[in-house]
Amino acid sequence: MATNRTFTMIKPDAVKNGHIGNILKDINDGGFKIIAMKYTHLNAETAGQFYAVHKERPFYKDLVEFMSSGAIVAAILEKDNAVADFRTLIGATNPAEAAEGTIRAKYAKSIDANAVHGSDSDENAEIEGNFFFSSLERFA
Ligand code: GDP
Repeated sequence: MATNRTFTMIKPDAVKNGHIGNILKDINDGGFKIIAMKYTHLNAETAGQFYAVHKERPFYKDLVEFMSSGAIVAAILEKDNAVADFRTLIGATNPAEAAEGTIRAKYAKSIDANAVHGSDSDENAEIEGNFFFSSLERFA
């Protein structure tokens, strides 16, 4: 069942490079409502758990190291067709292939340091939102 929600993280590269404000503005301008949000960080263990689905991929170790290298902003977003529309707003995984005007085209430097995460399905949006937020930490 479509939940009209997605989960995002502003990744350590974008936080370090001062892009939190610009990215949140793009998210708001894209019509997404913020249901929950926190400035936090992952460590090697929690980043490993979050990305467990990629455990067998060659880039898993680098991904875990990168995602635990600095602060992140985690948020649950709401909009009709949230998962697909948010992936359109952020652009392709590799910023070199991301469409002009997308968040990754504007703020990402490389395929690993690619500025933002966006859930790839309603099911994963639910799982990922629950990974970071209790029911007391979200509006609605
Ligand atoms: P997404 O859904 O667009 O985030 O892409 P994926 O689910 O395929 O990959 C998850 C994350 O792993 C990406 O956002 C990147 O940060 C990272 N990643 C994907 N492919 C590569 C790669 O080839 N090398 C490295 N170092 N990281 C990658």
